[in-house]
Amino acid sequence: MKVTFPHMGQVYLAIKGLLDDLGIEVVVPPPITEKTLEIGTKLSPEMACLPLKINIGNYVESIQKGADTIIIAGSCGPCRFGYYGVVQKEILKDLGYDVNMIIFDPPNSDYGVFIDKIKKLAGKNSWISVAQAFKRASAIVKEADEMLDIALKKRAREINKGDVDSRLNCFEQEVLSRHGNDEILETIRKYKEILSQVEEKSDVLPLKIGLVGEIYTLIEPYVNLNVEKKLGYLGVEVYRSITLYEWVKLHLSLDVKYRMRHKRILRKAAPYLSLCVGGHAWQTIANTIYYSECGVDGVIQIMPFGCMPEIVAESILPRVYQDYGTPVMTLVVDEMTGEAGYFTRLEAFVDLLEQKRRGRVDGYKEGLFGN
Ligand code: SF4
Repeated sequence: MKVTFPHMGQVYLAIKGLLDDLGIEVVVPPPITEKTLEIGTKLSPEMACLPLKINIGNYVESIQKGADTIIIAGSCGPCRFGYYGVVQKEILKDLGYDVNMIIFDPPNSDYGVFIDKIKKLAGKNSWISVAQAFKRASAIVKEADEMLDIALKKRAREINKGDVDSRLNCFEQEVLSRHGNDEILETIRKYKEILSQVEEKSDVLPLKIGLVGEIYTLIEPYVNLNVEKKLGYLGVEVYRSITLYEWVKLHLSLDVKYRMRHKRILRKAAPYLSLCVGGHAWQTIANTIYYSECGVDGVIQIMPFGCMPEIVAESILPRVYQDYGTPVMTLVVDEMTGEAGYFTRLEAFVDLLEQKRRGRVDGYKEGLFGN
């Protein structure tokens, strides 16, 4: 069995570590490029969500490198994510790729099915070694997210532009040659230390922007056109509302305290939206309010074109802005999004926030919305 999975930010670190420890051969999908997008766009239905198209591109590239089994996280809907696994399997079958697909639905209500799928993947490994491998893989997710948080803070303050990213590039080169959870974790820790030593300016007060929106678009830099990096270069400190670690804590761990905190934040959205309409729309509203209360200067919602839940959230955000006063901008990405126009919009938003902070915009009334 040669296992692959969709590329999504740094998720490959934990999955590679986990599979290495279980003695399963893994094909890490090549980083997403224009070619990945081109393959996915050509082979997927035109109206499919952008993440699905990119996943298909990932699979084809990994299958060409020998993968015969795909693992993917599932969902019960109500948006199209609930059908991802099934639709993707059918697309691959129509193309003549007869691969095995294991869909891991979050075990929120049915741990039995989840455990059966783990058994299928784990083969002869004992339950103890599976549990230990999972524990170490979740440590990877946690520490990789902490590493990114260090990068987000440093990028907004670095003396030499590019210091943070040159170190992150070295990390990405180095970590791919590591085998197993322990070696990967060790490399992450080494680079956390290296990043912490990046020299920073002492006299800056970066603007603070919170990112909200659809999970895949937020986590995968290729898809969001490196929004974190671009904002960092504009001197902005970025806060991420959705991270891989958060997903693991909410769906795979039994951390009651964390879940209660998450529910408390969700409750903030009650006057506007009080149920899950799919994806992370509920979180988008709740986190926009949470960020406003925390005093960020602005919020950016990012979503793929045609993402139904985020369209619902987008239509509610003007009311949240009216009530809380934190400017919100929505960025929609698809396979045609041009980098130059995207960057111009980010620059304009950051300029506006800077002016607002300096009090130059008297009686500021309108937030920025739409595309
Ligand atoms: S959240 Fe949006 S992009 Fe993701 S599957 Fe649902 S509709 Fe598609």
